[in-house]
Amino acid sequence: MNWRAEREELIATVREMNARGINQGSSGNASIRIEDGYLITPSGMAYEDLVPEDIVEMSFDGEVSGRRNPSSEWRFHHDLLENRPDFGAILHTHGKAAMTLACQRLELPPFHYMIAVAGGNTIRCADYATFGTQELSDNALKAMDGRKACLLANHGLLVGEVSLARALSLAVEVETLCDTYWRILQIGKPVLLSEAEMDEVKAQFRKGYGMPPEED
Ligand code: 13P
Ligand code: ZN
Repeated sequence: MNWRAEREELIATVREMNARGINQGSSGNASIRIEDGYLITPSGMAYEDLVPEDIVEMSFDGEVSGRRNPSSEWRFHHDLLENRPDFGAILHTHGKAAMTLACQRLELPPFHYMIAVAGGNTIRCADYATFGTQELSDNALKAMDGRKACLLANHGLLVGEVSLARALSLAVEVETLCDTYWRILQIGKPVLLSEAEMDEVKAQFRKGYGMPPEED
């Protein structure tokens, strides 16, 4: 199968992440689940130049097909899509605010109710490992446990969602939360929401708001 629509959606999504200011250049990468595998952006290519044939098709068995090399981060895309049936798409960005906090290796505490959109009371920061390694993927999977987003130490942001559209909107939300948090840290310490208050937030989301968080 050719997966033309999915290839085009992947290209539109990575272009949009740069247009929205949550990534720049050829940093970052994205994938979308297909039958028995996934489609992923190629490594190191300018997003403006991408055409559907540049997207790489990969199977969970390790088969690779396409004329380009897959993203150097194919391991965490592979491992997340294989181990998290709740994810249909993965997005990785180098947003300025996410990188600011990731370089301090800070996790995001419940300073704002929207922290719950990533599935819990915090957004964790995965332990540091070199980009493109299995160790980074292992650390990322751990930090994503029960969550749809995490920071990657000294690196950037990772999100997983049911679709590329939802992943992009979650990445925009988390980048905004990161931007807000580092501003807060300039003037002092935030007042954190309690566990009970965050439980109420999650219950409120479950009542029908568009982005229901998962259980902790
Ligand atoms: P790729 O171009 O290989 O996807 O690498 C970009 C990146 O963000 C590495 O972490
Ligand atoms: Zn990266």
